Amino acid sequence: MKNGWEAVIGLEIHAQLNTETKIFCGCSTRFGDEPNANTCPVCLGLPGALPVLNWRAVELGARAALALGLQLNERSIFARKNYFYPDLPKGYQISQYDRPFSERGTLEIMTAARDEGGHARDWRPMTIRITRLHLEEDAGKNVHEGLPETDRYSYIDLNRAGTPLAEIVTEPDFRTSWEAYDYVNHVRRALQWVGASEADMEKGNLRCEANVSVRRVGSEKFGTKVELKNLNSVRFMQKAIEFEIERQINLIEAGGAVTQETRLWDDRAGETRVMRSKEEAHDYRYFPEPDLQPLVLTSDFIARVHDEMPELPEARRKRFMYEYGLSYNDAAQLTSEHTLADYYERAAQTSGNPRGAANWIRTELLRELETDGRTAAESPVAAEELGALVRLIDEAKISGKQGKDVLVEMFKSGKTAAVIIEEQGLAQVSDAGEIERLVGEVLAANPKQLEQYRAGKTGLMGFFVGQVMKASQGKANPKLVNEVLSEKLKA
Ligand code: ADP
Ligand code: MG
Ligand code: ZN
Repeated sequence: MKNGWEAVIGLEIHAQLNTETKIFCGCSTRFGDEPNANTCPVCLGLPGALPVLNWRAVELGARAALALGLQLNERSIFARKNYFYPDLPKGYQISQYDRPFSERGTLEIMTAARDEGGHARDWRPMTIRITRLHLEEDAGKNVHEGLPETDRYSYIDLNRAGTPLAEIVTEPDFRTSWEAYDYVNHVRRALQWVGASEADMEKGNLRCEANVSVRRVGSEKFGTKVELKNLNSVRFMQKAIEFEIERQINLIEAGGAVTQETRLWDDRAGETRVMRSKEEAHDYRYFPEPDLQPLVLTSDFIARVHDEMPELPEARRKRFMYEYGLSYNDAAQLTSEHTLADYYERAAQTSGNPRGAANWIRTELLRELETDGRTAAESPVAAEELGALVRLIDEAKISGKQGKDVLVEMFKSGKTAAVIIEEQGLAQVSDAGEIERLVGEVLAANPKQLEQYRAGKTGLMGFFVGQVMKASQGKANPKLVNEVLSEKLKA
C-alpha cells in the first residue's frame, strides 16, 4: 500500500447451512435437480402459504455462531426485507434485522503478510469483531441459456429459493487484503469443521462481499466505502480489494473523491467496475414477519448445542502444541482439516512418539495421499498402522530410509509394516553379538586402515562403518555399528 495511506475493510459472508430441507418448508435443498423440481407453495411465494421454521437450520446456525465466537440471542425476530426481483416471487426475503440471531463476536484468527511469490511470512494472531450472524432464506436464480444469436432464453429456477443462509457481518477491522483473505479462509474452515456448511465458494454455497475505504494514516474518520461483489473465490476477493485500495488512493490523490457505490470484480480485466451507485440503493422497508413467532432459544437448547460442538481447530492446534510438543507449523497443518487431526492423534498414540508421527504424516503420508487426491479419512494406511511403523523405526527394527519404502509398499498393498518387513527380510540386525562379529571381521580384513586410524586418521571411521554395513547387506543397525566400532577402535 502507498505510504501514508491505510485501508479499512469490512466483510459480509453468506454461508448456506447444510440442511436437507429448506428453512421455511419441507422442499429438498439438493443441488443440480431439474429446475423448479424442489418447490412448493411456500417457497414459490404463493399467497396464503405459511412458513414453518426448520429447527435444523437453527441448530446449524447456532453451531456456526458458537464456532465464530458470537453470543446467541435468546430471542430474535424474523423480518421482511422488501425488494422486487424476478427470482424473489414473494416480493420480500425473510431475514433478520434489528433483533438478529447472534451478535458481538470476537474471533481470533491467524494472519500473515505475503511476499512477491505469495508465500506467507510471520503468522500472527489478530482479533476480529463480528457484528452479527443472522438467519435468512436465499432467493432463486435467473438463468440465461442458449446461443446469443439464435435461441437465447431465460427462465427462473426457484430450487434455491428458501435455502437457509447464515449472513455473517464483521466490523471494519481489516487493514489489508491478506487479513481479509485469512479471515474468510478461517470462517470457511470453522463452518466446515462444525458441519454447519460445506462453505465451498466454487459451488456457491459461500459468497462474500467486501466493503473497502481508505484514509490517511492517523486520521480517525472513515472514508467513503465501496461495496465489492462478484467475488467468486477467496483469491479473487483478495485481488479485488487490492485493486480497489489502489484505485481509491489514486483517485483521492488526483483531487477526486470516492463515490459510495457497488462495484463488480472482473477477473479477466483485473479490475473493479461500477454496478450501481448509492442513489439506486434499496430502501428495504424492513418490518417484523407477521407469519412467524419470535425465535426463542431455550437454555436447554443452547446447552445441548454447546455439548455437541467438536473441539474447534484453533483450540485443537494449541492443544497439539502443548500436549504433543509440535511446532506452530506442524500443528496448524495437522489441524487444517478435522479428519486429518483425528488421524494424527490416533497415529501419535500408537507410535508413542507424537513428534515423529507428525513428521511422517506431514512429509511421507500427505505426499502419498496427494498423488492419489485422497484425504486422511480415505487413507489406505490406517492411522494405527502408521503409528506402528513409526514405532518400528524408533525401536531400530528398520532404518528411517527403509521405513519410507515400507510406507510406499503399505500404500500399494494394504499390508501392515510388520508383514512387509517380514516378507522382505528387512529387519535390522540389532543383535550386539552378531554386530561384534561383523566388526571383528572387518577390522581383521583391513589392518592397514586400522593402523592409520590408530595413528590419528579418525576420518576413517566412515570407511569402517561402510564396510560393516556392506558385510551385513545393509541390515545392521547403524547406531549399534557406530557404538561397537568406537569401542573396538579404542582398544
Ligand atoms: P450498509 O448499510 O451500507 O450495508 P453497514 O453499516 O451495514 O453498511 O456495513 C456493512 C459492512 O461494511 C460491514 O462489514 C461494515 O464493517 C463495513 N463498513 C462500514 N463502514 C465502512 C467503511 N467506511 N469502510 C469500510 N468498511 C465499512
Ligand atoms: Mg449491507
Ligand atoms: Zn418449498
